[in-house]
Amino acid sequence: MRFDIVTIFPGFFGSAGAKSGEGSGILGHGILERALRQGQAEVTTHDLRSFTHDRHKTVDDRPFGGGEGMVLKAQPIFECVEAMHLQSKGERGSKERVILLSAQGQSFTQATARRLATYERVVLICGRYEGVDERVSAMLCDEEVGIGDYVLTGGELGAAVIVDAVVRLLPGVLGHADSSRYESFGEGDEPTETMTADGVPRATHGAGGLLDYPHYTRPAEWNGMPIPEALGGGDHLAIRKWRRRAALGKTLANRPDLLETAPLSDDDREYLAKLGWNG
Ligand code: SAM
Repeated sequence: MRFDIVTIFPGFFGSAGAKSGEGSGILGHGILERALRQGQAEVTTHDLRSFTHDRHKTVDDRPFGGGEGMVLKAQPIFECVEAMHLQSKGERGSKERVILLSAQGQSFTQATARRLATYERVVLICGRYEGVDERVSAMLCDEEVGIGDYVLTGGELGAAVIVDAVVRLLPGVLGHADSSRYESFGEGDEPTETMTADGVPRATHGAGGLLDYPHYTRPAEWNGMPIPEALGGGDHLAIRKWRRRAALGKTLANRPDLLETAPLSDDDREYLAKLGWNG
């Protein structure tokens, strides 16, 4: 899969480097760096100023109608994206996607990441200043995406978030294929898949739209705090049950909205009711 990032700050992203440990910036560390070095994904940054035609490499101008700040001009962005030789908007099909990072965009979620991971090429256009001339969104972009309900100074952090969240979902990038399935916001397992016939959770995770269960590692007791008893004994049934319930408890405490759509068994509902859930 290939990402093309359109930005006035290409240096923000760094690079993977030729060998492990030689990378820099966001692209040069951890799983992302390894995926890029191994060719599982490719990220190219495009300096918007290279697509200007004046001495000062001007990418912005004052807003029509007056008001605060400057607006990124349409012309360099159009020329930059045209140089990628994509299909035109409306004819791109299921292989290419052009996205404008915007606080006004639709919220980026794990479901968005899973959807974007199916494209061969995703172009991410990073705004700056007061934003981007609206003709870019109207004529060039397939969608506008926001990474949260807050305003950033630019789209670069958003582009980095999208690249990171999508690349880790690509086949072979994580060590274990199930790692990206059985985690917070994991794909919704059917209750029949999640539960055995006697109602005991088969899965050891919080997948199915729940948050992940809490994790512990050695030592078994630290600073007077022991790990939950069920996790120490090697009883796999007890571990699965504890993890399922811990995931339910965590979700109820932090993101009760997720319980509205998560596939829940009768046992889950009973347990949640005991915790005070009245969904
Ligand atoms: N005037 C805009 C508004 O009120 O929605 C904010 C512009 S912001 C200062 C500059 C750029 O940062 C935007 O064009 C966008 O690319 C990026 N940006 C800001 N907040 C964002 C968010 N929550 N998600 C994605 N991109 C964001």
